[in-house]
Amino acid sequence: MVLIEENLKEIRENIRKAAIRSGRKPEDITLVAVTKTISVDRIQEAIELDVNVLGENRVQELLEKYPKLHAQWHLIGHLQSNKVKYIIDKVDLIHSVDSLRLAQEIDRQAKKYKKVMPVLVEVNVAGEDTKHGVALGEAEGLVAALAELPHLQVKGLMTVAPFVENPEENRVWFRKMRQLYVDILQKIHNNIDMQYLSMGMSNDYVVAIEEGSNMVRIGTGIFGKR
Ligand SMILES: *Cc1c(COP(=O)(O)O)cnc(C)c1O
Repeated sequence: MVLIEENLKEIRENIRKAAIRSGRKPEDITLVAVTKTISVDRIQEAIELDVNVLGENRVQELLEKYPKLHAQWHLIGHLQSNKVKYIIDKVDLIHSVDSLRLAQEIDRQAKKYKKVMPVLVEVNVAGEDTKHGVALGEAEGLVAALAELPHLQVKGLMTVAPFVENPEENRVWFRKMRQLYVDILQKIHNNIDMQYLSMGMSNDYVVAIEEGSNMVRIGTGIFGKR
């Protein structure tokens, strides 16, 4: 077996087990293959192994690969308002909405295509200076504000947990995210659909799923070191 095939097999097995441990079905967990810096040929290899959701974190790189690969695309990295127009008709989910201003631009561009853009609100759960995302205490307010925008729909929350050696250290953050997700789910109903909790990367996706993630974003674990 080639590397990607072996890696995918192991990851899918880990996802399956973690889903079952947390009382869910394996098929309820979406695997987003993170393809930043990865060549089109190697991504194609993953697609042939039934990977159908790709995540890119830079607009430029997404635009270069988009015409060459048939898959669903998610924008997972920081998005500048002035770049929204380039991707609005190409992506199925934007994971990284962290300001009303960005959301308003997404709403404005989506309107031109008569579409409703599904988005996640990115939360900087550990309050790290180096990370994008709204503060934990501001997430609910932002979701409520976004619910007023007709051409955008909040589909859930996303976080990039701290970089840690031991994934157990992130359990506390994943738990906080899950709590926030449930709180919002119970309080706000208008024009939001809390379907996804996007958390967990190569190093910590098992812990993230155990704590309630249903969307994991994995790059290194599939394609090897960048
Ligand atoms: C790069 C990246 C990932 C994947 O990271 P790996 O450690 O390679 O799995 C996930 N989410 C975001 C936002 C990223 O930029």
